[in-house]
Amino acid sequence: MLVLGLLLVGLGLLLVWWTQRAQRELGLPAGRVVYVDDMGPAQTLARPLYDPRLGLVGKPDYMVEQGEALIPVEVKTGHTPTEPYPGHVYQLVAYGLLIRRVLGRPSPYGLLRYPEATFRVEFTPALTDELLAILAAMRTDEARGDVRRSHQHPARCRACGFRDICDQRLA
Ligand code: SF4
Repeated sequence: MLVLGLLLVGLGLLLVWWTQRAQRELGLPAGRVVYVDDMGPAQTLARPLYDPRLGLVGKPDYMVEQGEALIPVEVKTGHTPTEPYPGHVYQLVAYGLLIRRVLGRPSPYGLLRYPEATFRVEFTPALTDELLAILAAMRTDEARGDVRRSHQHPARCRACGFRDICDQRLA
């Protein structure tokens, strides 16, 4: 019986070590991973986060719990920039806003993980206000009807957080 108990404790410690190692390798911060996009029943986020008043919907690749706070983590492939792309930053800020408004949990910052670097983005009131202004402008454009792309740069679309839902995208 004692041997079985020791074995179970050993297995438990091994699992904790393996999980922490996998978390470090993914570039995730310390804390409990409470949500992994497309990973089945282990997740606690059954549906995308949706705020009808803002017309905002989305779900980050990961969410890590740190005390009361939830930290969104977005993983990007391809070229690693010296500074995170603005579209990616606003996408992350949107997740922070959705976490606060829809789940009622603090979300003070998020992480953008590129292949060669991870950037921490503080969700400051100024950055949140910038996002709200962008969303308001988008709603105005939407109400106008036919909104055309204002540039010819595929790279800009590749870095854009709205690429998945944009019918004007170049890449
Ligand atoms: S055209 Fe669409 S995908 Fe490209 S930058 Fe503009 S909003 Fe983003």
